[in-house]
Amino acid sequence: MIISPRPDASQDLEPLVRQALPSETVASAQDASQALTLFEQARYLGRTAAVFLLDFRRAPIDQLTDCVVELRQALRNSELIILVESTDSSTLAACLKLVGSTEAMTFLTAPVEGLLVVRTLRTVAERQRTGSHSKRVLRDSSEAIKGLELQVQELRTRLDIAKHAARHDHLTGSLNRTGFVEELATRLTRNRQMQNVIMIDLDRFKAVNDTLGHAAGDELVRKICTGMAAVLPSGAVLARLGGDEFGIVVETLSDLGMAELCTKILRLASQCRIIAGHEVQVSASIGIARQGSTHSEVELLRQADLALYAAKREGRNRFKVFDNDLDEATQHRLAIENGLERALNSGQLKMVYQPIVKADSRAVLGYEALVRWDSPDHGSISPNEFIPIAEETGLILDIGEWIARQTLRDCRKWNLPYVSINLSSRQFLRHNVGERILRYAADAHVAPNRIQIELTETAIIDDVERASYNLRILRDAGVRVALDDFGTGYSSLVYLKQFAIDCIKIDKSFVDNITHERQSAVIVASVAKLAASLSMSVIAEGVETEDQRTILMASGCTMLQGYHFGRPTPVNDLMPGHLGEPEY
Ligand code: C2E
Ligand code: CA
Ligand code: CA
Repeated sequence: MIISPRPDASQDLEPLVRQALPSETVASAQDASQALTLFEQARYLGRTAAVFLLDFRRAPIDQLTDCVVELRQALRNSELIILVESTDSSTLAACLKLVGSTEAMTFLTAPVEGLLVVRTLRTVAERQRTGSHSKRVLRDSSEAIKGLELQVQELRTRLDIAKHAARHDHLTGSLNRTGFVEELATRLTRNRQMQNVIMIDLDRFKAVNDTLGHAAGDELVRKICTGMAAVLPSGAVLARLGGDEFGIVVETLSDLGMAELCTKILRLASQCRIIAGHEVQVSASIGIARQGSTHSEVELLRQADLALYAAKREGRNRFKVFDNDLDEATQHRLAIENGLERALNSGQLKMVYQPIVKADSRAVLGYEALVRWDSPDHGSISPNEFIPIAEETGLILDIGEWIARQTLRDCRKWNLPYVSINLSSRQFLRHNVGERILRYAADAHVAPNRIQIELTETAIIDDVERASYNLRILRDAGVRVALDDFGTGYSSLVYLKQFAIDCIKIDKSFVDNITHERQSAVIVASVAKLAASLSMSVIAEGVETEDQRTILMASGCTMLQGYHFGRPTPVNDLMPGHLGEPEY
């Protein structure tokens, strides 16, 4: 009698049974009750089911237990051959305990070996026929049990090893993310002390990996991890959560204690180290969440993560403690981040143009292109807010392309004298940005000498080589380059001159004070003079009054821009006097 819970299971067994016992009848059942019913029927017909073959490969072991128990209760001495997966030994041992005795039980493990099955069937059938269980059989089965117990033991050990590996990081030996989250959850349910989560991310780690290779990156991670482990207070645990990200859970620490710990970590992360023969220095950003109202590990981790990103945004190499304001700010930021792509693809972005005028005659020389976003969900959002986010997410590349193309089309269509296009750092340091702009200009049929680009000094000094290359391509074609927000950065004008800049835009913060603060007027005058001696022209930004215009002119600014002359305006609302004949 073959018993198997899976209807199709024993197809490979039947031929083996026939081969082993050619004169016997083979019957199949899905469980013990069905087998017992068949058994009763057979007995009625004068036959006796001699051997039960229980095929429980890939079947739940508790079903097997039930089946064995039921058979044993009904037919105390029948021979059972039990076929299971080899990996089941641990549960199998439990099953055996339940059944109590292994007498008249023979075990086979998958995969099925034809010859072995045939031989086993013959032996067992013979034993059943003679009805005698010799001492030898008993000894055999006790040996089988011993073997099984050994297997169970080994399985347990292997399981423990696997469990350990699943919770630990192979590089540093500390907990990994899974282990960390488990540990935090356990501590939170114990709920005896306040738990704090510290999330640490190395700044500029990627550069180490990229320039010195992954082995060097690994070594750095290991060293920093060892360093951190050494400064942890007792009872704290450290984990490596990912490539260059670490987590710490620490209990009941005062604000001061927390600040001290984080300062130590920042200091040791930014130590200069020799890795693969090179001097390497990175820094770290840290986010902290303290157990307050929440007892959920997910929430604490989220808060620490938000704080970490805020620390990064605020300039890295610092720590930041989560608070609810941060949450709101982040939610808003996230909403913007998510909405931006849709904004770009569904026409929510618009361009406006602000005139740049000649200081003396107020004649319009050209227009600065400024982007606007009217969001159906958030109203109008300042570019000061969404451009930095687009920079971070990388969407600035697509947005920037749209801005340049739209502006150049407008320039052509409305015959603007020239357009001044703002390029963010990331956009300007993009591969082939010069070629791209020139291609957009050609597509829009705008001569390069009707284009000015506005850059901030970071766009240039972040990658001097690439910036020089891009500037050369543009300058050679006739595009003019303006240095935006001059006076807010730290670079010297003489230094910047080597990058072939045509014009500097004096930041509005100087213009604001120029009428009542002598210092501002002096600065503007000396900047204008310096610029002139370097053959650069000067545009003063944010001019709002006639008084400002008078002083700026006297200080040597030949070009001005500001609400006093015109606000940023949609192209079709620009004053007709400012425009040439529109071209269609
Ligand atoms: P920015 O390039 O320095 O642009 C000048 C900002 O000052 C503009 O703000 C302009 O509307 C404003 N402004 C001009 N004249 C006056 C004035 O007389 N008084 C006052 N109070 N403000 C004045 P906006 O358009 O909000 O842009 C802010 C910043 O966003 C820009 O500063 C620029 O950094 C960025 N941005 C704007 N449009 C674009 C763009 O198309 N591409 C890129 N990459 N950045 C852009
Ligand atoms: Ca600008
Ligand atoms: Ca500016």
